[in-house]
Amino acid sequence: MCGATGARELYTARDRLRNSDEAFSIAVCEGCGVLRTLPEMSVRELAPFYPDGYWGENQEPSQDWIRSSQSEKTRFLLRCNLAGGRILDVGCGSGLFLRALDPRAWERFGIEIGGPPSEAAVRQLGRDRIFTGTLMESTLGDSIFDVMTFWSALEHTNQPRANLMEARRIIKAGGSLIVQVPNAASYQARWFGGDWFALDAPRHRYHFTPRTLGRLLSETGFQVYSSTFRSKAHNAHALRQSLKAKLRRRTSHLSLALFYLSIPFLKPFDGLMTALGEGATVTVAARAV
Ligand SMILES: [Zn+2]
Repeated sequence: MCGATGARELYTARDRLRNSDEAFSIAVCEGCGVLRTLPEMSVRELAPFYPDGYWGENQEPSQDWIRSSQSEKTRFLLRCNLAGGRILDVGCGSGLFLRALDPRAWERFGIEIGGPPSEAAVRQLGRDRIFTGTLMESTLGDSIFDVMTFWSALEHTNQPRANLMEARRIIKAGGSLIVQVPNAASYQARWFGGDWFALDAPRHRYHFTPRTLGRLLSETGFQVYSSTFRSKAHNAHALRQSLKAKLRRRTSHLSLALFYLSIPFLKPFDGLMTALGEGATVTVAARAV
């Protein structure tokens, strides 16, 4: 990401979905401090690690379900005073976030790499609104979007810098970019190491901290103006799953009993840590400058 080639392994991580028993290396860049999953893998090599339903395909969700499942994202938009315009959601899946937006206020566009999710997005939003492929392949015009969003998307690409440079070209000056990624500086990342659920090796190629993400954004022409560590959708769930993975290594009845006893306390505990700026997810809004 920064051009440095030196990296130091911090720990190893296994695929939580058990597509293979391979151990992946989580390494820190000696240049900029960003974390990476190694070895490097091409899009073709990564494809078998995305089983059907990875993106949470739902049969045919109701509009009410869509609105409530996406409310954390739509509320963040409102908090940033973003109430309408032309929007592009990169890695839009089946278009749930776009479908939660008011079509009278928003001209909605999405990009999705392919497969059943992008087919569903095309069905729901129209062939002229969904580009099937990657952002780098989309060759959209200059300065045409008011808002671009990467919800749980930037960590999946091998080229985060190139993607953000492309985003800067496509967004209007003064427009907004929203990026949500797991927070590799969170207490969960530190405590659980290779067992942290949100490492999601090998699918997550980069693991950002607020510092490494902020630096990349400023180097690609953006200025962060709002951020949050809160995420009801991700944080407490990641804590539960990380704890389970850690305890699975010791198969004693005592550790299992401790896990089940701790369940009622996990959510309030994580809420407290999130309020202290330690949340496992970071969402930032940045202005194209
Ligand atoms: Zn680096």
